[in-house]
Amino acid sequence: MPEEFGDWDPEIFEKHGREVISQIRGHFEKIRDVPVAVPRDPAELKSAVAADPPETGELFERVLADTWEKVVPGLVQWNHPSFHAYFPTSASLPGVLAETLTAALNVNSMLWQTSPAATALELVVLRWLAAMAGYPQDADGLLVTGASLANLYALAAARDHALDFDVRERGTGGPGAPTLRIYTSDQAHSSVDKAAITLGTGLANVVRVPSDEQYRMRPDLLDEAIRRDLAAGFRPLAVVATVGTTAVGAADPLERVAEVCAGHGVWLHVDAAYGGLYRLAPSLAGTLEDLSVGDSVVVNPQKTLFVPLDSTALFCRRPGALARTFRLVPEYLTSAHDGDTTDLMDLSPQLGRGFRALKVWWVIRTFGRAGLAARLDASVALARRLRERVDRHPDWTCPAPSAYPLVCLRYTPEAVTADPRLSEGRKREITDALNARILRRVNASGTAFLSHAVLRDGYVLRLSIGNIRTVGEDVERVWRELDRIAAAELAEPTGTTAWTDPA
Ligand SMILES: *Cc1c(COP(=O)(O)O)cnc(C)c1O
Repeated sequence: MPEEFGDWDPEIFEKHGREVISQIRGHFEKIRDVPVAVPRDPAELKSAVAADPPETGELFERVLADTWEKVVPGLVQWNHPSFHAYFPTSASLPGVLAETLTAALNVNSMLWQTSPAATALELVVLRWLAAMAGYPQDADGLLVTGASLANLYALAAARDHALDFDVRERGTGGPGAPTLRIYTSDQAHSSVDKAAITLGTGLANVVRVPSDEQYRMRPDLLDEAIRRDLAAGFRPLAVVATVGTTAVGAADPLERVAEVCAGHGVWLHVDAAYGGLYRLAPSLAGTLEDLSVGDSVVVNPQKTLFVPLDSTALFCRRPGALARTFRLVPEYLTSAHDGDTTDLMDLSPQLGRGFRALKVWWVIRTFGRAGLAARLDASVALARRLRERVDRHPDWTCPAPSAYPLVCLRYTPEAVTADPRLSEGRKREITDALNARILRRVNASGTAFLSHAVLRDGYVLRLSIGNIRTVGEDVERVWRELDRIAAAELAEPTGTTAWTDPA
């Protein structure tokens, strides 16, 4: 093969690598000058990047320039300090570098034999993460692609545990097979529903237990639902409790939920994707739910521990349960096991798996446990301060409390709420529309990026704090901008918020 068809010379790699790293440095140094998101016409955006694959290789300088000019401006800057939508998944710089080395090594950690140190390191970081989350360190576990899949895998293990026949062999159906039910709160993440779809349990068999006034699952109603189902011949598959719900950051009362589960012998899975690792934060010490009552638990370092996408940890304290569901070794994957080794492919449906442990290891080692704790505490403090500001403002409210740095705010101006011409229903409609417009306008402005939720009080803006770069001045700026946009929207309504005409 002629030499020019090989890979880049490592010297060329270093030259380009230095340039890329220098540009990343510039990107972070100027990140506050860059809009968090710019609304773009989809057709225009697509045509800016549309092209046929080049027949011959292009100059890398050209590829890199196109990336910064045509691609990056069309992205939402998830690493921006004013990104407050959904849950921030901020990538710290040690994590960014770890991803580069991970790509260079391109290790597949499917078997112990295919990369012993990758598996060994994964077991170490899992133990660290379990300790941080307050879960038994000797639990089985693995790093997976996102909490949605972690929930699915845990529920597959729970299903096989719940059925007294060989599900792997026979499948879930057949004569006499019971209908399975999954119990979760009306606030649970949609990935529970998706797991029910994937497992063949069916959406109709996801029982959404009502939550209380603070959006926490009602254990008494959970107990009632299970009793009713047992009497009707259903078989409980699992209860999924949430620590850090998606809409408002509530936590289900785990101890009481676990008592209900124990009473009926039902598997308790805890989706602590958002809340689980906040147990590290000293300012929340003693106030959070105890995850160790869960048969299985998911926590998400990609969400709260400044590790780049993707890295989620799934733990299961029932020894061997994950392997009983997923271990399947064809001839071509058999390997010699000398000593105490683990093949991580045995614990999930995934075979080829990247070396996710390295970035978790680098981030935890470079910041330290206390350093991570201080960073989580800083977010909690910023959120508390913002909540105080909002509570003091006569035209804004925080309709739902959260221990975590997630602030739900709703613009409720007196001009609407005290207007005697308007019915209560109409006031709510107008306020909902106002808040939706505020969200659109702030996101279009590029100064911040927020998301929304619909609560019992109506439409709220969700402002989630957790980016590693966010400081007080950043939150202050977003708050001033929200209030300014809200006042402008009230004074000069646009679109559907035109409300002065009482309906
Ligand atoms: C984020 C989140 C999920 C989904 O996580 P992915 O990693 O995006 O799949 C599931 N449950 C909860 C409670 C979450 O916060």
